[in-house]
Amino acid sequence: MGHAASKRIVVIGAGIVGASLAYHLAGKGADVTLIEAGEIACGATGHSFGWINATCAGPDPIALLRSAAISDYRRLESELPSLQVRWTGALSYGAVIDDLSRSSANLLPRAKIFEREPNLKHPPLQALFAAEEGALDPSQATHALIAGAQAFGAKIITQTRVHGFAIRDAQLTGVETATGSIDADTVVIAAGTGTPLLTNLLNASLPIEAAPVILIRYTTQPDLVNGIISNPQLEVRHSADGALLAAEDYLDDTPQNRPEVIALRTAEAIQSELHGVFSIAPQSACVGLKPVTVDGLPIVGYLPNIEGAYVCSIHPGVTLAAIVGRLVSEEIIDGKSAAALNACRPERFLKI
Ligand SMILES: Cc1cc2nc3c(=O)[nH]c(=O)nc-3n(C[C@H](O)[C@H](O)[C@H](O)COP(=O)(O)OP(=O)(O)OC[C@H]3O[C@@H](n4cnc5c(N)ncnc54)[C@H](O)[C@@H]3O)c2cc1C
Repeated sequence: MGHAASKRIVVIGAGIVGASLAYHLAGKGADVTLIEAGEIACGATGHSFGWINATCAGPDPIALLRSAAISDYRRLESELPSLQVRWTGALSYGAVIDDLSRSSANLLPRAKIFEREPNLKHPPLQALFAAEEGALDPSQATHALIAGAQAFGAKIITQTRVHGFAIRDAQLTGVETATGSIDADTVVIAAGTGTPLLTNLLNASLPIEAAPVILIRYTTQPDLVNGIISNPQLEVRHSADGALLAAEDYLDDTPQNRPEVIALRTAEAIQSELHGVFSIAPQSACVGLKPVTVDGLPIVGYLPNIEGAYVCSIHPGVTLAAIVGRLVSEEIIDGKSAAALNACRPERFLKI
């Protein structure tokens, strides 16, 4: 336990990031209230592909965070038995390979690729294999983190939107909702694409955009692929229940690019890439909104103009939720600043 001394912390947003923050902060003894406008994991988290992608593509300002992402998930698995990761490894190839070849992933020749993924119809000459990577069900992981936070005493309030802040002498003293206000010493804004609306109320304009991506779930036979496969045409993996998941770019809102139409096109691509696809039927095709910044890096840290306001907007949020949850709890409770977060500070976007 850190120096929490019943520090009252409100976390806004119950996606995987807010859930991890609530778990780690409550685990250090803070008096945590997590407030969610809808249901748990109803934002980007509930539509995410769930790949813990620790591989750096070229020089990466968040390389330290990515490289520690996996060990923090391994720790969480031991702390929270209902948080389960499928450590299948990830095979990447295509245009990304030049950048990725500078990474820690192994370069596999075609014969080895074939051993790993025998159903690939057109295995490339070489591919990168990150053996230590895996994927999880982001919604299930969020629920596991929230149950863990509750076991440490955190309160969870859903169906309640934060629409304002209470401020006294440039110090945040709480949040306002339709059902009343909640006092806090620190407010952590982890509201995904809803974050800029909230920080604007604090005179901090942050360039976070909502980038749409499509998650498709197919009924098909199990074990078509052994791990995660990613190339410019396809990103697929099986979920624990045997469904095949695919993440696809959102193109536009024309009828030929509606999610259900893209799901049919992607099914054809899967059939032309993999042997043994006897039947493949889309179960769902949903658009999720990723919170991305103009420089592609997360925003993590205190807002400089107001005491007690902390922002945590992360993409890739599934990959980094475990490590960022731990580091932020150490900053807020123990006053221990994390050098790994230096590239992520909100100051880079704010005129001070
Ligand atoms: C199709 C798809 C595939 C992806 N694949 C991957 C992947 O493989 N690996 C990876 O690392 N990342 C991936 N991502 C990105 C990842 O899912 C997100 O970065 C992550 O889920 C963000 O989590 P979050 O908790 O910050 O945001 P969210 O899950 O969006 O949660 C924010 C929550 O805040 C709530 N909220 C907003 N405003 C308010 C308010 N005023 N008051 C109260 N509550 C509020 C929202 O209702 C929401 O539930 C993918 C995303 C998509 C859409």
